Order: sequence, then structure tokens, then C-alpha cells
Amino acid sequence: MGGFFGAVSLEPVVADLFYGTDYQSHLGTKRGGMATYDREGGFYRAIHNLESTYFRTRFESELEKFKGNSGIGIISDTDAQPMLMNSHLGRFALVTVAKINNMEEIADSLLKENMHLSEFSSGKINPTELVGLLIIKGKTFVDGIENVYRTVKGSCSMLLLTEDGIIAARDFWGRTPIVIGKKDGAFAATSESTAFPNLGYETSYFVGPGEIVKLKADGMEVLRKAETKMQVCSFLWIYYGFPTSCYEGKNVEDVRYTTGFKMGETDGVEIDSVGGIPDSGVGMAIGYAAGSKVPYQRGISKYTPTWPRSFMPANQEMRNLVAKMKLIPNKDVLNGKRCLFCDDSIVRGTQLRDSSKALKKLGAKEVHMRIACPPLIYACPFINFSASKNELELITRRVIQDFETGNTKATLLKDAHSTENVKIADERIKAYATTDSPEYKAMVAEIAKRLGLDSLKFSKLETIIEAIGLPKDKICTHCFDGSSFHTCNGCCCEK
Ligand code: SF4
Repeated sequence: MGGFFGAVSLEPVVADLFYGTDYQSHLGTKRGGMATYDREGGFYRAIHNLESTYFRTRFESELEKFKGNSGIGIISDTDAQPMLMNSHLGRFALVTVAKINNMEEIADSLLKENMHLSEFSSGKINPTELVGLLIIKGKTFVDGIENVYRTVKGSCSMLLLTEDGIIAARDFWGRTPIVIGKKDGAFAATSESTAFPNLGYETSYFVGPGEIVKLKADGMEVLRKAETKMQVCSFLWIYYGFPTSCYEGKNVEDVRYTTGFKMGETDGVEIDSVGGIPDSGVGMAIGYAAGSKVPYQRGISKYTPTWPRSFMPANQEMRNLVAKMKLIPNKDVLNGKRCLFCDDSIVRGTQLRDSSKALKKLGAKEVHMRIACPPLIYACPFINFSASKNELELITRRVIQDFETGNTKATLLKDAHSTENVKIADERIKAYATTDSPEYKAMVAEIAKRLGLDSLKFSKLETIIEAIGLPKDKICTHCFDGSSFHTCNGCCCEK
């Protein structure tokens, strides 16, 4: 997904920018970048590859080159950023958290208008450069950003560092967040409000969907009002977010705890201990333990000294290896017990199948899994969620396909790409996505069987909605129920 941070201050801003950007590190793995603006020295920018190292390690040695009272930074899961643009609107630096589904189409139309694309460092179109070009087609920054809203299919939130402050523009449907923080003589904008407490900022505003605000050291001005409709990603609370972050005023840890508590209260399974799969399963497990009145125990711990991040290298095999190496089971806690674990979600299931085997080998009498969200059935077209390339990467889709095609020799395939995707009617998929339908129950039982679990339950969609505490029509739940498939921004569908 990626996360950004920007700050503008009466004082030099580099330290805030450095740590504020670092606090986005759980949201991306590929590239990190920062740009500052200094009245005398102008813009300074650096971008580094983060695939084999961490943001702080990579940028620490060159911090003294960054100067000025304003700056933006990014941890990106995709392209090299920030982009520096010199245009009729003035000079600016740009960072985006975006997924652009119609990139080729936009690039073609820009090239036809005699514009050029200069950034091909990874052999691909740079989405942030495309966004920059769409912005400079506008008469003003706001006009240009509205052009982005109208043109991009997918999602796009952004920060612009101008010579006159920072402009923060949230995705038209509000799929990804922007939170504003304030302290004496400074304002900041961030994807993750986790960045604020240690830097002395207090959350002062949640930017609305499609809203554009301008930050200066002495204040915030709204340049474009928020849309009334919103589709904020529910997965932010379940999986992406750091526990101390808030979106729309709703705290990540609170939502995870409530989800676990509600399930624990009513589950009724006979168990001896509850544990969370670190990191994102822990909040739910603590809630489940409180709701079920069964002790919370760390049957699995994360080796934090050298595996501090929750995201992984780009290569899937390497990801599986890292996932295995960083989580260490505790034999003394597991031995002879009926253990229940909570986790955020099940995507492919390969990792969970290996863990359940390993836990039993270490003496766990039973292994039960409880999942914070409903089954993931639809690929995400909006925010670059990891299973977006091929729906058959999802274990649910493989089970559905096997059921619907009568494949009785089904196994948990390691390589989803080698499996042919058979077209299944939308209504049939919908039947599996409907909580407690016969199809849903059969699918969940089959997943439990393939993963070697004694029992498996997923949170109900209604529980997630209730835990988040926003109206259902303001939250994107597309990957669970296929709803609200808005890929355009009001240009061709009803706003
Ligand atoms: S489809 Fe899922 S992951 Fe994608 S934006 Fe919607 S809720 Fe988030």
C-alpha cells in the first residue's frame, strides 16, 4: 500500500520528517524517499531501495543534506518517489499512495497530448509521475488534483510539497486515509497517526474523502470540501494499520480488541489458551481472551530484534521463509494444550498450514483458528492489496473453484499461477460470500481441513462494521462481499 508523512514548521523540519516517514515502514517495503524545501537552497530529494534494508538505516547518513522548514516523505510499495516537478503551477515535490488501474490508458492519452514520461527507472510507468502530469494539466493545484480524481481508476491520496506549504489531498472515495496533526508552530499530514505522539503532534483533523487541505506552519486551510460519500478501506483496521493509529477517529487496537471480544463471548469452543499471531492478530486475541475468559498466552512470539517489520520482501518464496523464521513457537506453552490462535486474515493459507503442522508437532493437542475478518473472496482493485493479481491466490477461490467444478483431488497448491482460472457465475461466488449460507459453511470447513485445523471461524461482516463503528455504506468491504465496486470517481457512475 505505502504510507506518507509531511510536515511544515517555523523550525527546521528534518528530524520530524525522518522519524515521521519511518513510522510508515509497516506499510511498504520497496522504496523510501524524502524531499525538503529550503527558501535559500530550494528542493533536495533522495530515494533509496528498501528491499534489503530499513528506511532509517538507509537515510541516516545523508540527513545533513536535507534542509528547510517543510518536507514530505514516503515508504512506497511500488514506485520511486517523491517526484520533483517544475511547472506553470510552480516547483513542487509529490508523493502518492495510489493504485492506478488505468495507467496505460492515462499514459497513452498524455503522450498523445505531447507530454512526456521521464521516469522509467524500474522499466515501468511511474504512477506518481502520471499523477504529477495530471496535476500540472490543471489551472491551479486544486484543478489539477480534481483532474486526478476524475481520471484515475483505483485510488490515489497524495501530498504535494510546494514553495508555499504542503497540500494534502485524500483519495476521492477516501479508501486510504490522511490525518492532520498539530503542535506549536508546525502542522503535519500522515497516513498513520502513529507518527504523531513521539514527535509531539496531536491529531487535529481527519481529512475527508476527496478533500484537499493546505498546511502552513501557522494553520490549515480547506481548499476543496470533502465528498459526503466514503469508502474507507476496512482492511486498514484489520491488517494494515499499526495498533496506535486512528482513521476516522477509530483506533486500530480498539477495533481489533472489540472484534476478538465479541467472538470470544459467544464462541463456546473448549480451549485452554488463546494466543495471537504477531503482530496484527495480537489485539484480537487479547479481546478474545477477555471475552471468553480463557487465559491469553504467547504460544508464538515474534523475534523482534531482527524482524521488526510486518511486511516482507517482494519475492513470494522469500516471504514464506521470512514469515516462518520470524515467528517462534513456544513448546512449553503449547504442550498438551487445546490452543486457539487469532490472526488478521487468510490469503493463500500456505503459511498457516505449515504453522498448524508445526504447532501440533510441538505438542499442541488441538489447534483452532479465529480470523479477524470474513473470508477474502474478491481481489482488491483499489489499494494494491497483495492478492490483487490473481483471485486464485486466495484459498477461498480455490476451494470454490474445486467445489463448483467437482474437483475432488484438490490440495493446497503452492503455485496459484499454475492453476487455470475457471469462470464461476457471480451468483455462485456470492453464495459463498454470504455468512452462514450452506456454501459458506462448506467452504470454511474445507479450508479448515486443508489447513489441518481442529476448527476455524471468521468474524462476521456485521461484527467488523460494528467494531469500526462507521455506517456500512461508508466502509469498503469489497474483498469480503464484492460490494461497492466503484473504480471511477463519479465521472461515469452515480456519486
Ligand atoms: S477491497 Fe478490501 S483491501 Fe481493497 S480497499 Fe476494499 S476493503 Fe480495502
